Amino acid sequence: HHLQMQQTERLRALGELASGVAHNFNNALTIIQGRISLLKTHVTDATLLRSLDIIHTVSKDAANIVKRIQDFARVRQDDSDFERLDLSQLVQQTIEATQPKWMERTSGTLVRVTCQAPAPVYILGNPTELREVVTNLVFNALDAMPNGGEIIINVYEQNESAKLVVRDTGLGMNEETKKRLFDPFYTTKGGKGTGLGLSVSHNIISRHRGRIEVESELGRGTTFFLTLPLTPRSLAQELVVESVPQLPPR
Ligand code: ADP
Repeated sequence: HHLQMQQTERLRALGELASGVAHNFNNALTIIQGRISLLKTHVTDATLLRSLDIIHTVSKDAANIVKRIQDFARVRQDDSDFERLDLSQLVQQTIEATQPKWMERTSGTLVRVTCQAPAPVYILGNPTELREVVTNLVFNALDAMPNGGEIIINVYEQNESAKLVVRDTGLGMNEETKKRLFDPFYTTKGGKGTGLGLSVSHNIISRHRGRIEVESELGRGTTFFLTLPLTPRSLAQELVVESVPQLPPR
């Protein structure tokens, strides 16, 4: 499962790179096509016009190739894939799904995982991406506890926001790692790590208009704090406000 996730992370990073390149390439293509159109209205020479037509056709082909790359990368810029979801439930289910990973530890060390998410917390988001973030945080916590320990997860509402807190009693991080942990490809796990988990998670949380913060102490453990906007008030409530009768104008 972990391997499969690393593969997903690699693909996503590749997708982000590709779509970044595609975006910039598109900007250049737009200018080229604009200039060709402009030239075509001014040029009368037949040979030149023929050349411009060819350039036009080929640049359209290039635009199609870019579009295919973007379709493949599918890095969304909008939030059309967001849905209303209960973060408490999503986190609980994800923790359950990661259970085999922390139960399978045969080294004789014990890891205890506690998830406290007693009340529903409604947010707008992409459930697949959010599950990936939770999984990353839990797997990182496990990696940081080779001698066993405790992972405590809390989901709750605070200051009009949804909060997800993942705390571990693992190795903690030094200053260098604290500075760089969200950098793509930064890993302290050598060949076992991709260094993409947290950079991808950071991107996902940013896209959800949230924040991800970390507190860590060497030898004591690490806590990740995620803050996400709650769902806007329900449509029904807004309609009630809007339907308050207005006084007729005099
Ligand atoms: P990877 O897990 O592949 O190394 P990540 O981007 O998920 O990549 O993490 C980057 C680095 O941040 C890790 O290599 C590790 O040094 C550090 N890190 C992340 N989570 C924790 C944690 N819970 N405790 C200690 N260090 C952590």
